[in-house]
Amino acid sequence: MKLATKLIHGGPNVDPQTGALGVPIYQISTYQQTSVEHFRKYDYARGDNPTREALEDTIAVLESGTRCLAFASGMAAISTTLMIFSPGDHLVICDDVYGGAYRVLSTIFSRMGIESTFVDATDLSAIEAAVRSSTKGLYLETPSNPLLKVTDLRGAVEIARHHGIITLVDNTFMTPYLQRPLELGCDIVLHSGTKFLNGHSDVICGFAVVKDTELGSRIRYIQNAFGTGLGPQDSFLTLRGVKTLKVRMDRSQQTAMKIVEWMNRHPLVTAVHYPGLGSHPGHLVHHSQSDGPGAVFSFELDCFETARKVLEGTRLSAFAVSLGGVESIISYPARMSHASLPADERLRKGITDTLVRLSVGLEDPDDLIADLEQAIGR
Ligand SMILES: *Cc1c(COP(=O)(O)O)cnc(C)c1O
Repeated sequence: MKLATKLIHGGPNVDPQTGALGVPIYQISTYQQTSVEHFRKYDYARGDNPTREALEDTIAVLESGTRCLAFASGMAAISTTLMIFSPGDHLVICDDVYGGAYRVLSTIFSRMGIESTFVDATDLSAIEAAVRSSTKGLYLETPSNPLLKVTDLRGAVEIARHHGIITLVDNTFMTPYLQRPLELGCDIVLHSGTKFLNGHSDVICGFAVVKDTELGSRIRYIQNAFGTGLGPQDSFLTLRGVKTLKVRMDRSQQTAMKIVEWMNRHPLVTAVHYPGLGSHPGHLVHHSQSDGPGAVFSFELDCFETARKVLEGTRLSAFAVSLGGVESIISYPARMSHASLPADERLRKGITDTLVRLSVGLEDPDDLIADLEQAIGR
């Protein structure tokens, strides 16, 4: 089955009891048992809920995994998964990792004796150089946020395997429609399902997906123990949202390319960061490991005043954090996703005061361009 078909038929999408074309919302916390010796499959909903399970099975199929676990947020998925590591373990992390992941690693996991080294993962030799005898995990994001830097996943996996290290990839920006890290040899795929997977800016959720069933059982044990699983209403909404993933990604990506081409010619836009551009330093690597550049890009303007005009003047793109919705979302990394970084560190990473990120939605491309044009020219 191709992915478009898997989106509709990949999971258990018919209720066996009623024939309903969809799994209902099991808004139930506990299940009646009949035998003292053998409990039913479902007993208590912190552990298992049929609506969550239908969503987990669907995402597992999309990512070519054997097991997916759905969580109350992307950060719940990331934090719960990181609990597979133990005090004394060392992790190598890409230096432009999602801010929330940076926060839990540098302020919470560090306190638990799990140390992290942050490296420029676009440079495989920097990954190799950071590995110690205690290194147990390599954590990557490609393309990364907000500069869309690309890491060679096959190359990274080769290093990790050589040292017996688990590779984790946050695949939020790409979704399994455009990139499937498990097929490239990575061990764990993480998601903020809040973004493109659900796609409608109305649910906070996250996923961890694995190929190895033993690894899946370890994460599942912690999910149940901590109670970080996704609730049934949100599971239902995400199941509904994900059905249109292909058509949404196709259209948003096409529109992103159109806007990027227009921006490339605009005199006040000084740089555009998008792996779909031949001039992007990671273009070839990205092309070799994914099926498209996605629908998020960032751009730099001539000065802060122009950046302010764009951010405050767009009428169609919502000035907000987050991405991956049906509506275009424009954001300002220096004051939003990367506000917690000290200014010098932020600038060193290339996140300037003139950098703007755009997540392209499903509006008409000509309307979006006209809107950006009027905002820049205000
Ligand atoms: C939003 C995001 C997260 C965190 O997900 P939440 O659902 O907000 O907890 C993690 N990684 C990436 C790349 C994200 O964009």
